[in-house]
Amino acid sequence: MDNCIFCKIAAKQIPSKLIYEDDDVLAFHDINPAAPVHFLIVPKKHIATLADCTNEDAALLGKMSLLAPKLAEQLGCGYNAAGDGKGGFKTLFNIGPDGGQEVYHLHMHVLGGPRPWGRSMA
Ligand code: AMP
Ligand code: ZN
Repeated sequence: MDNCIFCKIAAKQIPSKLIYEDDDVLAFHDINPAAPVHFLIVPKKHIATLADCTNEDAALLGKMSLLAPKLAEQLGCGYNAAGDGKGGFKTLFNIGPDGGQEVYHLHMHVLGGPRPWGRSMA
């Protein structure tokens, strides 16, 4: 998609602080973090919103969801349910104007780290 900032990041036309990349998705730090750890998991395929996903995207959405705890763990904000019960993180999709979406290329926010956090994602 022309003029899509996350397509441009995926194509390496715009730099990002990359955390993870494979054939289908990439993850990079949010440029305006709302928590000590705040990164985005983004499909390489351009899909505008979660509401535009179809059953064909089920595996992609599953992959994004499963990546969130793995990358959170790598970045020091994982949650180990069998451990001391501390830590943890939040995953979030904003969808459409009332959902607060600003970039119309599907992305999952992952926020974590010790509270209090910064700007509200509400
Ligand atoms: P949303 O409101 O869900 O569309 O969130 C878009 C997010 O993308 C915001 O948290 C922005 O800070 C973030 N963002 C915008 N441009 C960039 C960029 N070039 N690199 C990293 N994050 C970005
Ligand atoms: Zn795009």
